[in-house]
Amino acid sequence: MAFFAALPAIVWALAIWIFPEWLTTISLPVPEAVFAALGLVFLVAAFFRQWYWFYWCAWIGGSYATIQLGLQQPLAQKEVSLLYEALPVWLSISALLLAFVNKPLLLSGKGILTVMVVGGLPLALLLPQVAGIVVLLSPADILTLPDWQQGSFPMGLLLWTIAMAGIWATYLLYKTASSFAWSQWAAWLAMMIFLLVVQHEYASTWAALAAATGLLLALADQMVKLAYIDELTGLPQRRALISQLQHLRKRSAVCMLDVDYFKKFNDRYGHEVGDQVLRLLGSILKNHGGFKAYRYGGEEFTLVFAHNNEDKLKNALESVRREIANYPLKLREPSRPKNKSKGKEERGKKDEAKTVKVTISLGATLKEPDDTPDSILKRADENLYSAKEAGRNRVVLK
Ligand code: GH3
Ligand code: MG
Ligand code: MG
Repeated sequence: MAFFAALPAIVWALAIWIFPEWLTTISLPVPEAVFAALGLVFLVAAFFRQWYWFYWCAWIGGSYATIQLGLQQPLAQKEVSLLYEALPVWLSISALLLAFVNKPLLLSGKGILTVMVVGGLPLALLLPQVAGIVVLLSPADILTLPDWQQGSFPMGLLLWTIAMAGIWATYLLYKTASSFAWSQWAAWLAMMIFLLVVQHEYASTWAALAAATGLLLALADQMVKLAYIDELTGLPQRRALISQLQHLRKRSAVCMLDVDYFKKFNDRYGHEVGDQVLRLLGSILKNHGGFKAYRYGGEEFTLVFAHNNEDKLKNALESVRREIANYPLKLREPSRPKNKSKGKEERGKKDEAKTVKVTISLGATLKEPDDTPDSILKRADENLYSAKEAGRNRVVLK
């Protein structure tokens, strides 16, 4: 899902592929649009204290300014091509470093230095001497754009871009990366596609806009997650539940679910193991299907069903109850024995991890015509209480 932050770059790539003429002749957008977009990203990022976005604003801004100045300056042909040979090398190396190396705090000596390098160094490429050095570093001219002004195709650069985009994207898919990670990939890709396809100022503006838009989408996504997603379990939390309950369908049902004797569990195994259990519960509920799960708070979850068929409901709730009650929770290695000789004795048989189980109680109710979020939750909660009273590890549906 986080992949959507890369969509502006993908759209840009498709557009330049399908309508190359159109994109290089249309006189909008103007360069100011790029700096306005980057300014907006920075303002929103600063407002929400997401400082790492600023490095990418600087990366896009610096590269874009370099391209614009390079195109406008009456540089000798040799010098211009030197710039465009050096840029892909620089953009690829700096993007990888920015994406994968730990970044310093923005408001620190190292942070300010990073911004200056990321945003300012591409401008230095306008100096033929600097561009010449970077070109020398390029392995066997692989990344150069031979005779770009005569329209010959930069096969080496194309292969490099495809390979790197593929490896990087595979890594992100494998990692189930955040939308921010995808927007970083997209920012790099958008700028590389510009270098690959056309050296035209309008095209570079589209590329930078695509990159900035991806960042903005990722930022919006992060903010929505911050407000609506519970960090521990990855489930939507109470705020999301209440807004869902306000638009509940006529035929629906709600269930409150609470872990049994969880306080005792925490006391016995520690809060950290308790957290592991909640995380696991969250993933079981998320993957079960048939309902939408929310973390109501603490060790309580809420399930929302889009039907009010009592038999179906009871079956689903029983299956959730059973699945959790039978799930062997593997505890991480308990604390090591302090006594040395005892430790030796036990070391041999320690390999089988200790497993424990937890149970849950569930209270469910069908939606009534004049229900409000409060009233339906209250009824479900009363049923949950009945399930606890009746001995726990059971379902009550009334
Ligand atoms: P009951 O069967 O009646 O529900 O007993 P209980 O002990 O589960 O009920 P109670 O509501 O008294 O205790 C809930 C406990 O859940 C208190 C707290 O230790 C634990 N808990 C709540 N939120 C978290 C959390 O985020 N992480 C961990 N590890 N424990 C939590
Ligand atoms: Mg509770
Ligand atoms: Mg409980």
